[in-house]
Amino acid sequence: AEDLLPTVRRWIDGATRIVVLTGAGISTDSGIPDFRGPQGVWTRNPAAEKQATIQNYLAEPDVRKAAWRGRLEHTAWTARPNAGHLALVDLERRGKLHALITQNVDELHQIAGNSADKVIEVHGTIRRVMCWQCGARSPMQDTLARVRAGEEDPRCRLCGGILKSDTISFGQSLVPEVIDRAMRAAGEADLLLAVGSTLQVYPVASVVPLARRAGARVVIVNAEETALDNLADALLMGQIGRLLPAICGSGQGQGQG
Ligand code: NAD
Repeated sequence: AEDLLPTVRRWIDGATRIVVLTGAGISTDSGIPDFRGPQGVWTRNPAAEKQATIQNYLAEPDVRKAAWRGRLEHTAWTARPNAGHLALVDLERRGKLHALITQNVDELHQIAGNSADKVIEVHGTIRRVMCWQCGARSPMQDTLARVRAGEEDPRCRLCGGILKSDTISFGQSLVPEVIDRAMRAAGEADLLLAVGSTLQVYPVASVVPLARRAGARVVIVNAEETALDNLADALLMGQIGRLLPAICGSGQGQGQG
């Protein structure tokens, strides 16, 4: 990775419509484990992947109760953005960020300082709850307070429907307008930067070939191989917290303008 850094830095300095795609790997330094990395939740407990389906969640009260207990303890509630998130805030301050497509559900990009209208959350957010029946959305902390007070399987206050975090589980469709927006942005990119993702979850991963076909350079930053390494103009294998600041910073102090 070292010898490629100056080249990638120059590409980023020259780019004006950078589209970033982030995965769980950008948040591990903030204490939120990924799913498929060496220390990932599913690498350690393969059964958990099967349980994460929407069908199981809707059919099994015990699955819901376990999910709510898990949400109470979620590492995201105390997590702070790390150097990787902040490097992407620098990109936006420099006027280079066209869109930030994220598979993450932790909202750490917005908390770090990226503006909400740049962030495209293709898998939703755990900071909101949605009712599976009437579609009403509400803050996660309101429902967590009810769970803390003893409700094991809290129901929608409006219609009695099953509540769930406003995220996309396996077996659940993406929100068409959101994934469309991500695809459109990728087609307008002059540089696509994929960070901390195994790039094996579709359709999100297809923003990489899409941007490439539209003429964008492709840079992949990840600790291990990804499924789309063959499409990269530069492959930076290593730690995100070190590599992203090295390629995204303006090198001119505040990075304004
Ligand atoms: P993934 O778990 O499939 O892969 C993460 C990748 O990042 C791995 O290849 C891992 O080696 C790498 N990585 C981890 N820490 C790194 C670091 N510090 N530096 C460099 N590389 C590092 O992640 P994914 O592709 O995003 O898919 C997981 C899915 O699960 C997503 O779709 C997302 O919705 C969800 N998820 C979200 C969060 C979150 O919001 N933080 C956390 C876990 C899972």
